[in-house]
Amino acid sequence: MFDVIVVGGGPVGSYAAGELASRGHRVVVCERKNIIGEDVCCTGIIGSEAFSMLPLAQMVGGAIIREARAARLFSPSGRLVRVSKEEKQAYIVHRPVFDAGLARWAQGKGVEYLPGSEVRSVSFGGSSAVVEISGRATPLEAKVVVLACGFGSPLPQKLGMGTIGDFVVGAQCEIGIDGLNEVEVYFHRKLAPGFFAWLAPTFEGRALAGLLSRRNPGENSPGVTRGRI
Ligand SMILES: Cc1cc2nc3c(=O)[nH]c(=O)nc-3n(C[C@H](O)[C@H](O)[C@H](O)COP(=O)(O)OP(=O)(O)OC[C@H]3O[C@@H](n4cnc5c(N)ncnc54)[C@H](O)[C@@H]3O)c2cc1C
Repeated sequence: MFDVIVVGGGPVGSYAAGELASRGHRVVVCERKNIIGEDVCCTGIIGSEAFSMLPLAQMVGGAIIREARAARLFSPSGRLVRVSKEEKQAYIVHRPVFDAGLARWAQGKGVEYLPGSEVRSVSFGGSSAVVEISGRATPLEAKVVVLACGFGSPLPQKLGMGTIGDFVVGAQCEIGIDGLNEVEVYFHRKLAPGFFAWLAPTFEGRALAGLLSRRNPGENSPGVTRGRI
């Protein structure tokens, strides 16, 4: 029996798992995907304060693509406001590499990973929790289960934890672009109702173009990856 089963091998799951293992608990992470970080829909902009609060540079330093000190904000009428600071404000990380790096860090603390393991149900009996995994005949048991399954999983609702009433949906794709060195943010009711759209430079000549909105973000952006937060 494990001390803790973590459902979800995203950043939250891996970080929680690593912290718990470093306190001496026997921890396993069940991740639905076969490869940690695969098909993740995220721009990877992380405020520099997160890097000062957590030793992220040591944990996932290889995931950092660039630093950001400025951003260009475009109003609905196209007016540009540029904000900048001397000190770095954020890092743009490669999310698949970031997720894989956090998982490696957690494994280094002794966490076991079960990729390709979708948790179907969690039930409680006596002093342990029973976790059923699709395609696996024997369920796993643990004293504690951590749900770190991100947005959209039915598990929290199945366990009576309620539903998420307020959310935005996002769409994003990678594009080729020249001369983009700063993050650009676009506010426009038609483009991204209730939220905003962005261009985030990544590698030389490449950027992530995305938007979050309270309505279907894929309406005008076919062929993009989608996610929710
Ligand atoms: C378009 C877009 C852009 C974004 N850009 C940024 C950004 O620039 N900066 C930022 O900080 N945040 C950004 N976010 C938000 C960020 O992606 C999320 O906050 C973050 O991924 C949440 O991490 P998590 O570990 O909680 O969940 P996730 O990253 O969603 O990880 C959950 C994991 O659980 C797994 N899982 C789910 N159900 C099960 C199950 N039943 N069994 C096993 N495994 C399961 C999933 O496969 C997944 O790997 C963006 C989101 C979107 C949609």
